[in-house]
Amino acid sequence: MQKIGAVFTDAPAIEDGMACGIDKPLLLSALKDGVKVEPPATVRCETALQLARWMEGSVAPALSTAMPGETINQLAQASAYVCRNRNNAETGRISEHAFGNAIDIAGFTLKSGKTITIRPADKDPSLEGAFQRAITEAACLYFTTVLDPGSDAAHENHLHLDVKERRGGYRYCW
Ligand SMILES: [Zn+2]
Repeated sequence: MQKIGAVFTDAPAIEDGMACGIDKPLLLSALKDGVKVEPPATVRCETALQLARWMEGSVAPALSTAMPGETINQLAQASAYVCRNRNNAETGRISEHAFGNAIDIAGFTLKSGKTITIRPADKDPSLEGAFQRAITEAACLYFTTVLDPGSDAAHENHLHLDVKERRGGYRYCW
């Protein structure tokens, strides 16, 4: 994790009842090149690692292609560890957020101060729309679940990324 430029502190184990919790949580506050994670995110190491790889390997290059001269200063996370069911439902399956496996990305702030907000972009003809589609597709190389604003109303304003392990290594990305 240090090798890839992440800035984090080890946090005490979380045990929250139900099945929620993380044995060895990290509080991730920044990624390579000083990209701030705002607010700092409580996640498992694997989640932080894949986030760092996605940002460096796909998001940063896509941004510098789409908007030459720009870099990312800050990543806005909308949810990391939280003890809850999927989609905040009263019943049903426990969210991957409750195991530290998931992070929700709301957008980015760039060096110039411009902000990029995750929004429905399936038919967005702008360069920003193309950027969002590119990083969403690329996220499936790093994360096993990718849900975007095209998935359902619950994901209209963020990308849900998680590292849930499935039999056969299946990925769920759409
Ligand atoms: Zn989520």
